[in-house]
Amino acid sequence: VSEYFDEITKNKHLNIYITEARDSAAQQAKEADERISKNQRKPLDGIPIAVKDNYCTRGIRTTAASRILENFVPTYESTVTQKLLDAGAVILGKTNMDEFAMGSSTESSYFGPTINPVGTKLGFGNLVPGGSSGGSAAAVAANLAAGALGTDTGGSIRQPASFCGVVGMKPTYGACSRWGIIAYGSSLDQAGVFGKCVEDVAILLDVIAGEDPKDTTSVDGRAYAFSQALGKEQRKLRIAFPKEVIALESTSDADKVWDKAQKIARRIGAEIVEVSMPSFKYALPAYYIIALSEASSNLARYDGVRYGFRAKAPNDINDLYERTRAEGFGREVKRRILLGTFSLSAGYYDAYYLKAQKVRNIVANEFRMAFENADVMFMPTAPSSAFPIGAHSTNPVEMYLEDVYTVPINLGGLPAISLPVETSTNGMPLGLQVIGPQFGDENVLRVAASVEK
Ligand code: GLN
Repeated sequence: VSEYFDEITKNKHLNIYITEARDSAAQQAKEADERISKNQRKPLDGIPIAVKDNYCTRGIRTTAASRILENFVPTYESTVTQKLLDAGAVILGKTNMDEFAMGSSTESSYFGPTINPVGTKLGFGNLVPGGSSGGSAAAVAANLAAGALGTDTGGSIRQPASFCGVVGMKPTYGACSRWGIIAYGSSLDQAGVFGKCVEDVAILLDVIAGEDPKDTTSVDGRAYAFSQALGKEQRKLRIAFPKEVIALESTSDADKVWDKAQKIARRIGAEIVEVSMPSFKYALPAYYIIALSEASSNLARYDGVRYGFRAKAPNDINDLYERTRAEGFGREVKRRILLGTFSLSAGYYDAYYLKAQKVRNIVANEFRMAFENADVMFMPTAPSSAFPIGAHSTNPVEMYLEDVYTVPINLGGLPAISLPVETSTNGMPLGLQVIGPQFGDENVLRVAASVEK
């Protein structure tokens, strides 16, 4: 643990951690050492983990990378981080992210952008790590943690995993408890993990998954033993390739991954199944209506009374609300609250929110039909490799288009992993997504493990 902190200090310029938890980490490490010496080892004893700064951690500042929570120290522990601690893990600190997990580059953080560590190694000093869990992906890529927690509402684990050349997985919606995770779009948000390899990811998921009475959308009655699945024999695999998605206007990076995906499918002896998802292209706009609507409601609680930042010397309660929110939220968060409030308002609800919900159902159904004939689906994780800081930050629509391959998966609540399989012409990593049907997490991991070999 102290070696990891030495590395963290040496790499401050990458801006990966918002808060370091040196004291509690040292204590956790000491307790793990004691258990190990007494032969009472727990599954993650002493394993140093980085946690995205939208998981509430008792006694450790939790900001969601927002000014409005700059000094918020929770009095409670999220279920997922509690499970890590119960398994003996050491939490090194809290990682940088897009403000309230809204973004695809970690540039919207109040604490400034994170630098992509793979880029710096290749001589590009200014590439984004992806987002919104950019700090967590970068922490694993730069060896500033052995594994990390992220959250994925529309790609925030998989896209930064692709940009930083690590493995990242979001399990099926409901596999992990959302309790104590700062909400963005509650019907889409899911906890997940980063690791250096598929097995690390499976081991971490074993620990964090499971039903929680504090989150009614967490799913009961399932035995989550992801790492055990890796060793199991695999029958003849069928891998779906969605023809309309391949035909979408594409980039050279995405084309490279599509080609590689076909080669990999043949290499692992799978049958390639062509499937049809004609509505896939409507998933992105539907997602940005639904996620923003839910966000506008979830973020109503930051009013200067209950949490964190409060505007100075308010004239009255409305002035307090208005100025707290005006001064506390960043530009992207405000944009999303405005758009979300608009699409939920009387007169527009039917035209936008309700229509988006219908599209969501259609997309989820097309996935369901595709998985009637296939075990998993292959797709690029993102249309490009890591881009330079500032490349899309002035054009929100351009930034949203980065998510074209990831958000449809969240609309369906499906499990998906991203693992590095290719490189862009400049040498930066490119990820492949392996997607499964709901609760097909074990198959996703198993296929990912054979792709990795
Ligand atoms: N980039 C997407 C968004 O901005 C997804 C973010 C996420 O998964 N948290 O909404």
